[in-house]
Amino acid sequence: MERQSPQCVKCTILRCGSPEKNRKVPASCPTEKYPDLVRETIDKFMLPENQAINQGWLALMNKVVDPEKPREKFSWTRVDEIIEYAKIRGMKRIGIATCYALMSESRSLSDILERNGFDVVSVSCLCGEVNPQDVGMPGDIFCNPIMQAEVLNREKTELNIMVGLCLGHDILFLRHCKAETTPLVVKDRALGHNPVAALYLNQGFFRDRFTRG
Ligand code: SF4
Repeated sequence: MERQSPQCVKCTILRCGSPEKNRKVPASCPTEKYPDLVRETIDKFMLPENQAINQGWLALMNKVVDPEKPREKFSWTRVDEIIEYAKIRGMKRIGIATCYALMSESRSLSDILERNGFDVVSVSCLCGEVNPQDVGMPGDIFCNPIMQAEVLNREKTELNIMVGLCLGHDILFLRHCKAETTPLVVKDRALGHNPVAALYLNQGFFRDRFTRG
């Protein structure tokens, strides 16, 4: 019988984060269920293209979590981290894939990146100006996240930043862009693009909100 699917968020053993490696974990623990993937993923991890990213992360973390400056880790915004990561990696050309509705925020981001010496390419989701009726879509605007990705591919950006792409369009963008890509703004129309607030409020005011009938 197929063993249960991993349920890490319900695990009370938490051996993976503990130095006590003799703790008995549930059979559904991914470490137990997929031992072949431990080796396989380490092999992938060691590939040069993945090592470059991980070394970038490590160098960034050494700055963010500097034991000499313990309070400074709370002063790193995500914008700071993206700038630092790109500098560490020696990246010069940054792409911004923006939602048309967040053009003002993306303009601020572009200014900040340019002030930091980066060459910035920004592409709106409405690029291509396709008539929605021509592709069987309703409404009077057509977002083209695939073109957004392909434009940044042609422009040879080294790091792409997603700003507020709609759910689904972000998936298409990620599926088609070639450069390393990180989100800065995740669209949440109700919560000022701060989706984690829904999870905080789920313990209180939002307790019954997400139960769909
Ligand atoms: S990886 Fe294993 S030990 Fe860690 S939380 Fe998941 S089930 Fe628990």
